[in-house]
Amino acid sequence: MNQGKEYKIDIPERFYSDAEGKPFEFCQVCGKYLLDEGTSYVVEKALKNYQSHDFYSTIFEYAICLDCHTTIQKGMSAESFQNLQKYYTAIVAEKGRQAIVINMNDFKLDNWLSKCFFTGDPIDEMEEYQVVAQFNGSKMVMNMPPMIIGESAIEEMSHLLSDKTIDEMNGFKQQFLGPDPELEEFIFGKKLILL
Ligand SMILES: [Zn+2]
Repeated sequence: MNQGKEYKIDIPERFYSDAEGKPFEFCQVCGKYLLDEGTSYVVEKALKNYQSHDFYSTIFEYAICLDCHTTIQKGMSAESFQNLQKYYTAIVAEKGRQAIVINMNDFKLDNWLSKCFFTGDPIDEMEEYQVVAQFNGSKMVMNMPPMIIGESAIEEMSHLLSDKTIDEMNGFKQQFLGPDPELEEFIFGKKLILL
């Protein structure tokens, strides 16, 4: 893909708010309206897979504007941030360029989002995974492709984070995502990774 140009597609239903049945409208943190063109934001969801029932449920979901996302990343210790960057860079280097280059002519979102970006493990074989993508107003931005983060990648990444960073993330979750029994497991199981 060329630098500078944004490749955008309509927001796939997979990235709608499950609670609302339509695209996210507001930043979970500051309440900013998201669907105006020029407003950049990220949507992240954690899903649980009931393999025997062929069914997924959403454990948590939110949209967060770029400003709030940046603020949260600043709460991450420099060491944790560098460790995550290194992890990502190493995976991408290992996979080669094909890993992150999308040919928009024959791009199939469901195919792309059927396996972990980092490990290649199929989501059908996972109990839990996260999905994250970037948006601009009412479009999904494909320059930084949407990504599945599978359970083993989450596990690996959580080991790269300092306790301070994990505390910061847990603070975020408790403040903005609210208490929920399944979410508690994510919070205290150190499972949420904000990229
Ligand atoms: Zn915000």
